[in-house]
Amino acid sequence: MTFRAAIFDVDGVLVDSPHERAWRDSFAELMDTEWADVREESTYTPERFTADVYHQVMSGKPRMSGALAVLDYFQVPDAENRVQAYADRKQALVRELIGRGEFRAYPDALRFILAVKYSGIPVAAASSSKNAQLFLERIYLDVFVNEHGLPYSAVKPGLTLLDLFDVNLSGQDFKHGKPHPMMFLAVAEELGVKPEWCVVMEDAVSGIQAAKAGGMTALGVSRADDEDALARAGADRVVTSLDDVSVSALHQGSVELATIR
Ligand SMILES: [Mg+2]
Repeated sequence: MTFRAAIFDVDGVLVDSPHERAWRDSFAELMDTEWADVREESTYTPERFTADVYHQVMSGKPRMSGALAVLDYFQVPDAENRVQAYADRKQALVRELIGRGEFRAYPDALRFILAVKYSGIPVAAASSSKNAQLFLERIYLDVFVNEHGLPYSAVKPGLTLLDLFDVNLSGQDFKHGKPHPMMFLAVAEELGVKPEWCVVMEDAVSGIQAAKAGGMTALGVSRADDEDALARAGADRVVTSLDDVSVSALHQGSVELATIR
């Protein structure tokens, strides 16, 4: 058997995006202004909103449930009535950061997705984020293959990462977000493949849980020193770089480390 679909999360797997910074900065801003009166009641300090907190508590979840999770984490009173303001503030900030070009594609991820796609395995994007499109359409693969001397003649001038996907369900609303498998299962259905033929690349605990709950193989991509958390969430394998994954083994239906690069 071979994998017949490779499903990619976007933020943290393909793109080093400004979400984390935007969530953190907008929280700090609100606590300094509109929410200053409840600051003492909460456990929040800027120092406590660490990368670990971001990755364990909110990363990978849909916008509203991620926002609520972190408000609850810091015991902000009346969280349900603040979540919209927080999400709105964050969204304005993230759009500003994207507009200023403050993001980049991970080079290992581009090498990997190109190798997977052009070895004949369909690729799909499945991010909870409504902003995923904004990144994907700004990443030019022709520029990347030229700069890195890669041999993909199918990459025509102007081809973006967005164009590469056979299926892209990013930002679509599902009744249940990750860690529920609904979005991944919808991708499999769209591609007409069984869940067990799918391999999912995820950097978030909630995403690994979603892949496993859907009966798929889960490859954890640790970008934040959280290999243990991804393994505990059930990842079949965890890597810190997608360069370490054997593309030929995917055609045998397994996720193995590449021995020689
Ligand atoms: Mg992610």
